[in-house]
Amino acid sequence: MPSIAENVRKVQLNLQNCAENSGRPLENITLMAVSKTQPATAIRSAFDCGLRHFGENYLQEALEKIHALDDLAITWHFIGPIQSNKTQAIAEHFDWAHSVDRLKVAKRLNDQRPENLPPLQVCVQVNIDNQPSKSGCHPNDAAALCTAIGELPRLQLRGLMAIPAPNTGIAPFAALAALKTQVNTTLAAPMDTLSMGMSADMPQAIEAGATMVRIGTALFGPRQRSN
Ligand SMILES: *Cc1c(COP(=O)(O)O)cnc(C)c1O
Repeated sequence: MPSIAENVRKVQLNLQNCAENSGRPLENITLMAVSKTQPATAIRSAFDCGLRHFGENYLQEALEKIHALDDLAITWHFIGPIQSNKTQAIAEHFDWAHSVDRLKVAKRLNDQRPENLPPLQVCVQVNIDNQPSKSGCHPNDAAALCTAIGELPRLQLRGLMAIPAPNTGIAPFAALAALKTQVNTTLAAPMDTLSMGMSADMPQAIEAGATMVRIGTALFGPRQRSN
């Protein structure tokens, strides 16, 4: 099995090539390492290779790792579905939440964000390709949700996030980019983030304008359990 250091190098080279091929500056694209199901030791190895942004889907598991790694200057991103009973811990322990898809959850995160922390950085998850039974708001509801979140003082609206169906090419990513441009015309403070692209579809996402890619398997290898 290739080491995490080798994988990080490969992903960074790939990222560099994608940026070049798309005529985009590399520094406009943040690499988030998706560490769900991976042990804290794997995160520490990736941190030692220079990665600083880590994404987690499962709250209980994430909290254990955040605690075990609290000596490291990691920016933690919550990227899994958010039920109401999870908002308090997310507000208290994460820097970003990428999967906010309804106002009720946004309001709870706002109310529960501790005063001594900076505002929680938020992306609105959009079901951009209308997949049945998927999380994410309907594209037509994104503007209203973004406007409402923009008025919550303990949240900072940063962008849009999507998880398109596999193997659908660039179209859903381009659609999310277009939606961000359109919604931004209606916002007082425009969004700067497009959270899209995973191990299998990073090139298409970057081509369409991703500013944050969420990469798991290509960095850590296959996941041990689906949790
Ligand atoms: C698991 C996951 C990823 C990473 O997927 P890989 O295919 O392993 O790169 C990215 N985003 C979300 C929301 C995920 O749940």
